[in-house]
Amino acid sequence: MLELDGVSHVYPNGTRALDHVTLSIPRGMYGLLGPNGAGKSTLMRTVATLQTPTEGSIRFGDIDVVREPGKLRRTLGYLPQDFGVYPRVSAWEMLDHLAALKGIASTPDRKATVETLLQQTNLWPVRRKALTSFSGGMRQRFGIAQALIGNPELIIVDEPTAGLDPEERNRFLNLLAEIGENVVVILSTHIVEDVSDLCPLMAVIADGRIRLEGAPAELIRATRGRIWMKRIDRAELEACRERYAVISTRLFAGQTIVHILSDSDPGDGFATLEGGLADVYFSTLAQSRRAA
Ligand code: ADP
Repeated sequence: MLELDGVSHVYPNGTRALDHVTLSIPRGMYGLLGPNGAGKSTLMRTVATLQTPTEGSIRFGDIDVVREPGKLRRTLGYLPQDFGVYPRVSAWEMLDHLAALKGIASTPDRKATVETLLQQTNLWPVRRKALTSFSGGMRQRFGIAQALIGNPELIIVDEPTAGLDPEERNRFLNLLAEIGENVVVILSTHIVEDVSDLCPLMAVIADGRIRLEGAPAELIRATRGRIWMKRIDRAELEACRERYAVISTRLFAGQTIVHILSDSDPGDGFATLEGGLADVYFSTLAQSRRAA
């Protein structure tokens, strides 16, 4: 279990990137969903001990993460958002090198580790190819392979699906789902589907604060009867925004489909619908914007 209690972070320029974040994250996949600038990377880097929070405490099992960063690092696998250095060495060589850095000193142990990880992440057939020649999806799978060295019990992946095509994304999420069965995996993302496809528990973060927390299915149930939709012409959109709490709009066959949040029937041709996680997410963001 990873427990954050009142974690805040203020950068030297005064930006309050985290504001009293309190979360309990059990074993399994946990989705941290939020728009750009919400504070996700700050939170991921703080848990990964790359920066010290301005205030608050973080515990992982019996490790005090802020006071004993070295201890946490021994059991941490981290795939940062900008895992961007790809030297001209092969996947095998790089993994072998990283395994040595992580303290796997014996050559046979390292060989076994590297082989297992390459197979697990489906990179075995390309193990002799240079990392520079890898596609985005292959790079992200390599990123997971290096994060898994040493059997970590806490794995942090920061916006891993950005820029992946649908097939690569699928493959990557399946890999994460397999890993998430036995350890704590925190997946930060701004993509609703990453969370709805994968995570039994999630939180929404915006402006450094946790705005919502729970199981996606329950959060969806809690919005039942409050999400309404209507097809309108684009020209009507402005008036619609003024009158209603619009949570999302999208184009379909040349018309605009608008979703709004309303506790009672708004009339005016709106129909209620079974919302999805996107409705939960966008209504949470709309509410936090209004509260700001
Ligand atoms: P996310 O990962 O959700 O996009 P970040 O954690 O990167 O969010 O950023 C949260 C806020 O902190 C943003 O307003 C961002 O501009 C600011 N921020 C991030 N890194 C720094 C930094 N090193 N110095 C100052 N402000 C920062």
